[in-house]
Formats: sequence, structure tokens, C-alpha cells
Amino acid sequence: MSAEVKRSVCPYDCPDACGLLVEVREGKAAKVSGDPDHPFTRGTLCPKMNRYQDTVHSPRRLTRPLFREGAKGAGLFRPGSWDEAGGVIAAEWKKIINRHGAEAILPYSYAGTMGLVQRNAGHPFFHRLGASRLERTICSSAKEAGWKAVMGETAGPPPQEAEESDLIILWGINAAATHIHFLNCVRRAKEKGAKVWLIETYETPTSPAADQLFIVRPGSDGALALGMMHLLVRDDRIDRPFVDAYVQGFEDFKKTVLPDYPPEKVSRLTGLPRETLEAMAKAYGRARAPFIRLGAGLSRYGNGAMTVRSIVCLPALVGAHARRGGGCLASTSSGGAFALKEVLREDFLTGKPRLVNMNQLGEALNRLKNPPVQSLYVYHSNPGAVAPDQSQVLKGLAREDLFTVVHERFMTDTARYADIVLPATSSLEHSDLYRAYGTYCIQRAEALIPPVGESKSNWEVFSLLAEAMGFPEPFFRQSAEDLIDLLVSTPNPLREGIDWDAFRAGRAVELPFPENGKMHFKTPSGKIEIRNPKEPRTLPVYFPPYGGDFPFQLMTSPSLFGLNSSFRERDDLRTKEKAMFLQMNPFDAKEKGLKEGEPVTAFNQLGEATFILKTTPRVPSGVVVAEGVWWLEHCPGRGSVNALTSQRLTDRGNGSTFYDNTVDVRQP
Ligand code: SF4
Repeated sequence: MSAEVKRSVCPYDCPDACGLLVEVREGKAAKVSGDPDHPFTRGTLCPKMNRYQDTVHSPRRLTRPLFREGAKGAGLFRPGSWDEAGGVIAAEWKKIINRHGAEAILPYSYAGTMGLVQRNAGHPFFHRLGASRLERTICSSAKEAGWKAVMGETAGPPPQEAEESDLIILWGINAAATHIHFLNCVRRAKEKGAKVWLIETYETPTSPAADQLFIVRPGSDGALALGMMHLLVRDDRIDRPFVDAYVQGFEDFKKTVLPDYPPEKVSRLTGLPRETLEAMAKAYGRARAPFIRLGAGLSRYGNGAMTVRSIVCLPALVGAHARRGGGCLASTSSGGAFALKEVLREDFLTGKPRLVNMNQLGEALNRLKNPPVQSLYVYHSNPGAVAPDQSQVLKGLAREDLFTVVHERFMTDTARYADIVLPATSSLEHSDLYRAYGTYCIQRAEALIPPVGESKSNWEVFSLLAEAMGFPEPFFRQSAEDLIDLLVSTPNPLREGIDWDAFRAGRAVELPFPENGKMHFKTPSGKIEIRNPKEPRTLPVYFPPYGGDFPFQLMTSPSLFGLNSSFRERDDLRTKEKAMFLQMNPFDAKEKGLKEGEPVTAFNQLGEATFILKTTPRVPSGVVVAEGVWWLEHCPGRGSVNALTSQRLTDRGNGSTFYDNTVDVRQP
């Protein structure tokens, strides 16, 4: 039988939302490749998605509802039916609601699939149920808070803008792992003569893309930004007309904050030599159109939002926004292209159920009262692996009185603890609507193949549960396609002028970015707000991250072969990654008597995790690096990297602090 080639979208939590071409043969995805017609990703995929068909048709896929038979966490289940699952879940929840109230039920989801309908399918259901609400801040909420403090709702420039820059700064962004297509923009800018800097805490796989690498102390990026601004002012490299016209609070900032960040002090804070700081400020001030591409990792410290806020002020001082190719891109704002309220349905809420922060799941499961969490419903997320303070999370999941349902494609660390596991569709088996957060592309994707086994999409499961709970609202009886149609047919100014024929044909299309859109500062004052009277600290300052009592700063960086805990079902990717490494400077390894290639245990006040030691001068002394999040079944010891990360939150945005932990390391 001949194959048909159809279009789809990469559904994972990655800024590019790559266009896919899927060869469908006899109802199966035979081959997945990049769509060369995608306006930004242009036919290339990362190593993870190149064999997506191996994930979709993996022999490890869950194909039937499963019911726990053994101890929690043992992974022993018997197969059952959807009818049985719906009946048991509804009966358990009704019992819990009678005894404790609906807030005793906690949903847990994040970004296992990024489509607007499937990702958010649980919101209307849990709002209607009256369940506790989940504060979904595990990824970039501090980064958003830092950006908003200065730029409000201002849209970041399209990534292609960087191609016109003469100085690109990759600031805390491991683009080789997380933004591979942005590196094409970097390459094209370099061909035109641009210089590229990488500011990082160790020499990441992105280093070869940079002309200069600046290694800073973890959590000191904000001090670097303030130090550079001190020097820009000292040397009169400020774009005065721009500042006078478009910036609020510069004079205050100059007089009351910047004098505190002379190069000697900033050198001590960042670890960069004074001459380097001088050279950086001079080059930044002299650049025609410097462009900062900001990562998210640097916002995952106790000072993360303030760090972003300080960095975002830099381009304002030199007027970079006004120049073609200049500015700062933290994230694109394509999310507003669709009326998400039609999916989220906040109007189904009655009252104001409590908010539980997703970074503090361990705390919530073990200590929350009035009412205690009696049921957890997890969908497209794997908190047993990805949530911080893993031992507390697993302790909570092991509670015999916690009724846990997990809707998943694979038997993850979390699914092993479930009372009921429901099989989930992959993105090729359901329809959805996508928007990228690293580009301005949107795309509609239809289901291309039938569900594998008896798997169901998020949308279908919540429809089923709504019926089992007796919800009368017709909203829950519509299909995902109905909702997608509604989102697409609701007019939105951001979509004006798009290529509708291409969009309807399932191609990715770009939202038009207004000419000079970078200069529309959507803040209360209409200016870039270096001074923001609504913030607890009205001006940016530096304060240190949490740190800790152990000698090594732990960097929990992205992997080239996984995305958080996604793709861990793939043996081929794990083989390429070789092992769960802890990277350490050779000097530190020698001091500790640790040997390359041997197991080592990192530990702190929260727990421990065993890794294989990789010694490398790419990691500075005093820092250790663990890339990727491994499933427990593949870990050399009993914990993954999140056994070492804390539930503390960021300064603003209630974000995660995955990068703000210290450890010691010993032989196992
Ligand atoms: S994970 Fe990212 S880079 Fe890889 S295919 Fe998906 S969107 Fe593209």
C-alpha cells in the first residue's frame, strides 16, 4: 500500500514547534521528517524528533486502562476497560468530595503536549469540579515576571531580527539543545559579520557557535548586567535621545543604583576579570544593533526574576530597540493569537478554589491540610521525575490514602504510583492547534493515524469524566475539532493578514509582526520601565541567589537527547547519551579522589543521586553539571537529579529554582 505524506507539528515543550512531514502507511506513522515549507524550522528537526515514529509506535506504549494490583510504585497492574475506569474514578471523587470537599482533588499537568486544546483540556473540567487549582510555574514564570516588570506586554521581536544584528548575545541559553533553529539566524548574522557572545555558567554544547565565551558564577547574571550598565553610564555610551523619549526612571537608576556596581565589585560577584567587564561594556555600547537572546535557566534561581529584569534594561540604555537587528528576545507572544479563554473556561469556577504551586507538590502531598490532597490526577506530566525534591514527591505519591490517576503514553515514574493508569494518544493520534513561543508561527494539525490501542486524548478523557460525573454542560460534549474550529473562527487582530489558504491546508504560517513593532512599548507609562512603581523594589538591584551549604553549585541543564523527562522511552537516544553523567572539573575530581567513568553520588540536605563521573575542563571548579532528567528505572542509583533540587520559589512569579542548589559529591 502506498504511503501518504501529511503535515503535523512537534508537540513538545520546545520554542520552535517544528513542522513535520509524516509518512502514513497502513494507519501507522512510517517516517517523520522536517517540513521544508515551515517558515522558520525549514525542514530540520532535532535528534529527538527525527525518529518520532519510534515513540508513537514504541512497544512500551500503554494501550489499555490499568488498575493497580501491587504496592504503590511497584508498577504492578491488571488491564481493564474505560467504562470501569470512568466508573471507579467518578465514584472515588464523589466520595472524596462528600467527605473533604472538591479542593481535596488536585490536577497536575504541564507541557507534555503543547497544543492549545489538548494541553488545556483539563482546565474546564477541574474548574467545574471545584478542584484545587494548580499554579503552573515550573518553567518560565520568573522570566516572564522579569520581562513584564520592564517591558509590560511588549512583544519580543521575531527571532529572524537577530540576522540583522552586529552583536548577538546568547545569554544563559543552551541553544544547541533548546533553540536549534535560532542557531541558523546566528549563522546567517555571522556570515554578515556579526560577533556572537555566549554568557554561561559552563562551556555548553552551544559554545562552538560563539566567538567569545564568558563564564559567570551561577546566579550572578544580574550583577553582570548592572555592572555593564554602570560602565555604559561612566563612559557616556548611553543613547540619550532614546532614553529621554522612551525610558522611565533612568535618572533615578543612574543616581541611586548604578554607582553600587563598579567593576571591582561586579568582578568579585561574577568571577569575570575587570578588564573583561570593561571590554564587554565597550563592545556592547559600540555595537550598532546588539541583540540579546535570553534563556530561561538563569531565571530559575532565587533571584531569577530580578536577574531577567536587570538584563532587559540593558538594551534600553543603548537604544537597541530602535535599530534594525537590535533588542532583546525572551519569548515570542504568539499565544494571544487565539482566544484561550474559550478553552480555559474560568467561568466554570464557582468561588475561588485554593492554588497549589506545582513546584511544591511534595509539600502539598505530605503536609497540606484543610483539606489534605486526597486525589491527584496527572496528565501529560511526570512529576515523579520532573518536580523538585523528588524524595518528598515520591513519599507523597506512595501514600495509601491518595487516589492517583495518571493519563500517560508510557509507564513513567509517576504512573508507577497510580491507582489507575489511562493510556494517552500521541500528537499524531489527536487534533490540535499550535503556536510557537520561539517564533511567531501557528499551525493546525489533524489526527493522522488512529489511536494506538485504546488510547484517548486529554480532550476525550475529560469528556468521558464529565459524563461520569454527571456534568450537564454541552461544552463537555463537543469534540476537540469543534473547539479548534471555534478558536480559529473567532476573529483576532494578531491573525489579520496571515496566509489563510496555507493555514487551512495545515501548513505553518507566521503571524505578521508589525513594522517597528519592537517600539510599541505596552506598559502603563508607554515607556520602557526601568523604574516600575508597581514592583516591590521599584528599581532593579542585585541580590544573591539562595545558594547553600555544600561546596558545588549544581547546574541542572538541558540534554541534547531528551526534553525534561520526555523521550526517555527511546533506547536509541539513551544509547547516544551513554550515561547519566555528572560533569566536574578535573581539579575538583582529583581533590575529591573521584575517577572519570566511575559512579559518584551527589548529595545535599534533600537527598542523593548517583551519576557516572565525567571530568571536563568545560565545567569550572566549584560547579557540577547534570544534563537532562532521567527516569528512575534508568538511573544508576535510587534518585534522579531532582532528588537534589528544592521546592523553594523565585523572587517573583513563584517559579522553580532548579539551578539554585548546592551539593557535595562522594564515592557511592
Ligand atoms: S523538540 Fe524542538 S527542535 Fe526538536 S523537533 Fe520538536 S520543536 Fe523541533
